[in-house]
Amino acid sequence: MKPSISIKRRSLLQGIVAGSIGSALAGTVSAAETNYSESHDLVIVGSGFAGLATAYAALKAGLKDILILEKMEAFGGNSCLCGGLMSLPLSPKQKALGITDSVELMVGDMYKAGRGFNHPSLARKFAEDAASVCGMLDECGVELKDKVIRLGGHSTPRALVPASASGGGIIVPIHNWLKSRGVQFRNRTQVTELIVTDGKVRGVRVNEGYDWQTGKSSRTKTIGTKGAVVVCTGGWGQDNSFVKTTMPAYALLECTSQPGATAEMLRALLKAGALPTMLDMYQLGPWASPDEKGAGPASFFATTLLLKVSRLIRKPGTVI
Ligand SMILES: Cc1cc2nc3c(=O)[nH]c(=O)nc-3n(C[C@H](O)[C@H](O)[C@H](O)COP(=O)(O)OP(=O)(O)OC[C@H]3O[C@@H](n4cnc5c(N)ncnc54)[C@H](O)[C@@H]3O)c2cc1C
Repeated sequence: MKPSISIKRRSLLQGIVAGSIGSALAGTVSAAETNYSESHDLVIVGSGFAGLATAYAALKAGLKDILILEKMEAFGGNSCLCGGLMSLPLSPKQKALGITDSVELMVGDMYKAGRGFNHPSLARKFAEDAASVCGMLDECGVELKDKVIRLGGHSTPRALVPASASGGGIIVPIHNWLKSRGVQFRNRTQVTELIVTDGKVRGVRVNEGYDWQTGKSSRTKTIGTKGAVVVCTGGWGQDNSFVKTTMPAYALLECTSQPGATAEMLRALLKAGALPTMLDMYQLGPWASPDEKGAGPASFFATTLLLKVSRLIRKPGTVI
C-alpha cells in the first residue's frame, strides 16, 4: 500500500517548528550557542510512536540527516510496553470487513468519552487523518491481526490489533525500517534544554551516558539543528513533583507508565515559552495494575473479562 503522507520538506520543517514550540518564542531563552558538538537536519526527542512517525514523515519529505534522541537504555517508551490497540475510523481493514464507520461517528465518540473537554479542531483532525497511519504500518512491515475489535467508548469496531498484541509489535519493525534507511538512534541521551536564539530553536542541551536510576550522566553537550527540534517525549505520569503542581491528589497514585515518563522536557518547553493546554487532565484507567509496571496479566485479565461481560450484556435476553 502506498503511504498517504505527502509533505514538502520546507513545510514539514516549518510545521514542526511551529507545532513543537508554538509561536511564543519571542524572547531569547538560552544564551546564544554557536559551537555545537554536532549538527543535524532534524533532531527528534523521544523514540515512541510520535518520534518514529515524525522520522518516517521526515524521510518521506526528503530529509536525510535525522537524529532520534532517547534518554532511556531501551527505545520505544510507553509505546513499546502498551497494548498497541489503534482505534482508527475508515481503515482499509475496517472497510474490507464491511464495517460502517465515519469521521462524524468517531468525533462523536471522542466527545462523549472526553465529556466535551476535547479540543474541537484536533479531535476532527485526528478522526480525519488517523487511518493514514496504515500506509506507514504496511510499509514498515507491522503485522496486524485480521480482526478489527470494538473497544469501550467506541460505537463500532475500529481498533486494529498488532499480531504480537503489544506496542512492541509496532515499534520494533518501524524502528528497524527507519534505522535501515539511515535514521540515527541514540539512547541514554537525555535532553534537558532547548537552545533558543533570536526566537528560534537552534539546538538542544543533552546529558550523554544518562542513567535514569541514578540521574547521573557522563557529560553534557549541545547538539545543533539546521532544521528543527521535534519534541515527542510523551507523558509524565511518573513525575510526582510535576503531577503535584497540576493535580496534587493524583501524586498519591501509582502509575503504569515506564519510569522515564517524567516532565523535564515539558518544563523545558514551558521555559521556552510554549503554552500547553489541559495540563491537569490525567487519564485514570482501572484496567492495569501498577504493581506490574505496565500492561501485565492484570490488564489482559480485566480487558478480556470486561469485553466478555459487555458482549453478554448486548445479547438480547441475557440475564447476569
Ligand atoms: C500500560 C499502558 C497501556 C497502554 N495501552 C494503549 C493501547 O493499547 N492503545 C493506545 O492507543 N494507547 C495505549 N497506551 C497509551 C500509549 O502508550 C501512549 O499514548 C503512547 O505510547 C504515547 O506515545 P509517545 O510517542 O507520545 O510517548 P512514548 O511512547 O512514551 O515515548 C516518549 C519517549 O520519550 C523519551 N523521553 C522522555 N523525556 C525525554 C528526554 N528529556 N530526553 C530524551 N528522551 C526523553 C521517553 O523515555 C520515551 O521513550 C497505553 C499506555 C500504558 C502506560
